[in-house]
Formats: sequence, C-alpha cells, structure tokens
Amino acid sequence: MKIKILILLFLFPITDQERFQQQRENLVKEHLIPQGIKDKAVLEAMRKVERHLMVPKDVQRYAYEDRPLPIGKGQTISQPFIVAFMTQAIKPKPGMKVLEIGTGSGYQAAVLAEIVDEVYTIETVEPLAERARETLTEMGYDNIHFRVGDGYHGWEEHAPFDAIIVTAAPEEIPPRLVEQLKEGGKMVIPVGPSANQHLKLIEKKKNGKITTKELLPVRFVPFTRRKQ
Ligand code: SAH
Repeated sequence: MKIKILILLFLFPITDQERFQQQRENLVKEHLIPQGIKDKAVLEAMRKVERHLMVPKDVQRYAYEDRPLPIGKGQTISQPFIVAFMTQAIKPKPGMKVLEIGTGSGYQAAVLAEIVDEVYTIETVEPLAERARETLTEMGYDNIHFRVGDGYHGWEEHAPFDAIIVTAAPEEIPPRLVEQLKEGGKMVIPVGPSANQHLKLIEKKKNGKITTKELLPVRFVPFTRRKQ
C-alpha cells in the first residue's frame, strides 16, 4: 500500500503551485481566522494573492509563514496577519477607491486590488516601486496605479479616497492624508517612534468630524520624508 502511494507521488509530484496554495490555505486557517480576521472578501484575497512572487528568491520558502520578510533596500513586507488586519479595518468593498502609502513589494496593493475597484499606491524608493510595478503587471493587475514620491502629500489629483492605508510609520499623522479622505472614509496608519508605535483607525464622519481609535501596538519601518 505504502509503496503504491510512493509510486503515485513519484509519477504525479505535487507542483510548487499546489504546495504554495496549500500553504496559503493553512495560513488562513491557522493564523488569520484564529486571530480574528472574519471579512470573507479579505480571507478570499489572502487565499489568492501569491506572496511568494513578491519576495526575494532566498526567502520564498517562508512566504506563507506569518512573519515579515526583507524585500531589499532595508525595507520589509509586513506580516500577513497585519496586512489582513489593516485591510479588514477599512471595510473594503467593490466600487471603492483606495490610496496606499508605501508600495514596498506590492503585496498589500494586490490584496486591496482583489477587493476594491482602484488602488493608488505611492513609494518613495524608486527601485522598489519599479519592481512592484513589474511584478503586479505580470500578475495581471490593471487596477493598481503607481507613483514614485513622498506619500506625505497624498495624491491630490485622485482625491478624495474612500480609504487610505499607510504602511510606514510617521511620528504624526500627515494632515494632507486626512484632507484627502472622503466623508465617511477610513484610514489605518501606524503612528509613533519605532519602539512605541500604534496602529490607528481614523474616521472622517459624514459631518466632517474626525475620530481616532487605537487598534494595536505594531512595528513598521519609519515613514521617511523627501527633501523638496
Ligand atoms: N505595503 C508594503 C510594505 C512595505 S514597508 C508591502 O505590502 O510590501 C513600507 C514602505 O514604505 C517601504 O517600502 C518604504 O520605502 C515606504 N515609505 C517610507 N516612507 C514613505 C513615504 N514618505 N512615502 C512613500 N513611501 C514611503
């Protein structure tokens, strides 16, 4: 009996694709759902997006462990749980237009692009932005728009946004980003110095009033400013 299975495995080896898909399924079942990710569209996107294509070859085998990974230029791709948590926090829906600050590998942008209509993403490190653009285009995403620059100023031409996700931590909330949020819109942003950051949820109510809620202690790379 065992020998038959071995022969079958030898004749029909499991492909990398299947192995990665199985690992994504495990990530969802063993890490994301138990840690409180409930939004069906978010879980579906996490099952689908190929994170292993967005990290350097030498760390690909860790792509579906729930941990951050280096992506070059001193930057990191966030832990899958944090990506799912931030995505769930903005309550993403079809029809929405979302701004992301800190394209990095492009993973968060891809997860958003699976759910909402249009994603606008800004990255300050040009080679990272270029690599993300190439990878995401190759993966077939045509609803992600890229810009190289300082995300501090947001993306005025496409404002206002239904939601904004910031994936690098400033010490203060950039005021232009709050301005570029639609009434009824939500922004998730890590705020504070590296040893003491909190993920915050900012909401702009229908009457324009701004509320702030602290969600989680986190650790993100710093939000860097470009000299004008
Ligand atoms: N969302 C990314 C995470 C990348 S880490 C992903 O899914 O992979 C945060 C990124 O923010 C880094 O690539 C860093 O270069 C970028 N960043 C830092 N300060 C920025 C700024 N002022 N404007 C735009 N991007 C910035």
